[in-house]
Amino acid sequence: MDTAARKDDVIFRSKLPDIYIPKHLPLHSYCFENISKYRTKPCLINGGSGDVYTYEEVEALSRRAGAGLSRLGLRHGDTVMILLPNSPEFVFAFLGASYIGAVSTMANPYFTPAEVVKQAKASDAKLIITQACHVAKVNGFAKDSGVRVMLVDSPPPEAAPADYLQFSELIAADESEFPEVDFNPDDVVALPYSSGTTGLPKGVMLTHKGLVTSVAQQVDGENPNLYIHSDDVMICVLPFFHIYSLNSILLCGLRAGASILVMQKFEIEPFLELIQKYKVTIGPFVPPIVLAIVKSPVVDKYDLSSVRTVMSGAAPLGKELEEAVRDKFPNAKLGQGYGMTEAGPVLAMCLAFAKEPFEIKSGACGTVVRNAEMKIVDTESGASLGRNQPGEICIRGDQIMKGYLNDPEATERTIDKQGWLHTGDIGFIDEDDELFIIDRLKEIIKYKGYQVAPAEIEALLLNHPNISDAAVVPMKDEQAGEVPVAFVVKSNGSTITEDEIKQFISKQVIFYKRINRVFFIDAIPKNPSGKILRKDLKAILAATTPSP
Ligand code: AMP
Repeated sequence: MDTAARKDDVIFRSKLPDIYIPKHLPLHSYCFENISKYRTKPCLINGGSGDVYTYEEVEALSRRAGAGLSRLGLRHGDTVMILLPNSPEFVFAFLGASYIGAVSTMANPYFTPAEVVKQAKASDAKLIITQACHVAKVNGFAKDSGVRVMLVDSPPPEAAPADYLQFSELIAADESEFPEVDFNPDDVVALPYSSGTTGLPKGVMLTHKGLVTSVAQQVDGENPNLYIHSDDVMICVLPFFHIYSLNSILLCGLRAGASILVMQKFEIEPFLELIQKYKVTIGPFVPPIVLAIVKSPVVDKYDLSSVRTVMSGAAPLGKELEEAVRDKFPNAKLGQGYGMTEAGPVLAMCLAFAKEPFEIKSGACGTVVRNAEMKIVDTESGASLGRNQPGEICIRGDQIMKGYLNDPEATERTIDKQGWLHTGDIGFIDEDDELFIIDRLKEIIKYKGYQVAPAEIEALLLNHPNISDAAVVPMKDEQAGEVPVAFVVKSNGSTITEDEIKQFISKQVIFYKRINRVFFIDAIPKNPSGKILRKDLKAILAATTPSP
């Protein structure tokens, strides 16, 4: 890779100085490196049950999970699928896999069976860890493929005792069974799925070195971007299976010695109650949660004065919402972060959170993280642009993905020969180094921060005998940010209706990928090489639907 800066490149860097990053450490060793300072402090608090695990317990249980995985025959480089909601078991499984050099691929437990099986196959998972209520989704696949299934709770009544492995046995393993692992910092440790700038979801290979770098960029050093200290309590309602939560809450929290308050599901009253009860200090949110807080009639009943940091990421946060949420958290600094799974994920972070904070502008989504380079390129010519000129945001640094699993072409389309990761987001950097995102060049749709890959829904639509062509694009929505809508060309003579199409898709996908509206059209606009002209469809949409 030629990483030398090109003569004309305008490269943007953090306002904070670079730091030392221990990139040689495996992720788990890095997270627990300072554990002697807070062994007996609460590390994980299960918001539902109230159970508390200290740092030494989390470390021991994770090591035992690693030993247990090894006893089951999992080896360095093997993949475990974690199909769980936020829970202590998720953490033990993820760190346990890291301890033995295995890879965790995380998936939404509410995926449909087809969605789960697709990821399990693509990632070559050797073991699936899930709950009894989701196990029916993987039973058929497990039987046919021989992949084993482990439950964190009791098996369903109809199951024979031997059908499933039990998580309790995994963490009962003796640490003497712990294998010697010859780690390489470039080994993959996490494999989330993301569609990136185009096409179907792909396995994003995040390495030990990449995640150590990303966490260090946020929390290490004298004046860290995200100043978390060991007295902090971070509420974790965002799902661990998304890299934002796994990295910026769990891994950053562990590294800093903070307490992580784990919530399985967002419900406004229990959420506000937990903030009040545990005196939460850091609230990492996404815009739909910010919206729910702002709109909630009960929020003023709760004491939220303990919160000192509210960060929002994963999707754009409008200025009005930003203003409105300030009132709800009287003592908090508010700011945005900007992430993308492939970028490890954090590219930029608001410096209002730093120990010695900078003034920030409303609407900005931070400045580039330390030990990284950012540039903005012209979408036509690829030329590097200066300040206040909008173009595609590109990032370079050790934190970015190693590539897409088994997909060198998609990797080459995303990371160029000079090592720049092209995000597909359009933005500019102003005279104060602040980044503003103004548009998205890429296809993905973001429903409450969750990704919807249009190509995935289009492929399902094209399977319908009464549909001859289809395209899926985002439509603005007040609650969700965006929802997928479909443009459909009916087959000759077909009388298929909007409802029939919606139902056809709903049966096959998780709730947030469901089609919100169907627009019938004579032909899908395409360029001469057959690429869908999504801009044209978005223009038709804007002309036919009022903005929310
Ligand atoms: P994901 O890989 O699921 O994290 O999605 C990444 C994409 O979410 C980015 O490439 C952006 O399009 C969008 N995104 C993330 N953070 C922000 C933000 N603060 N403002 C606007 N868009 C964002």
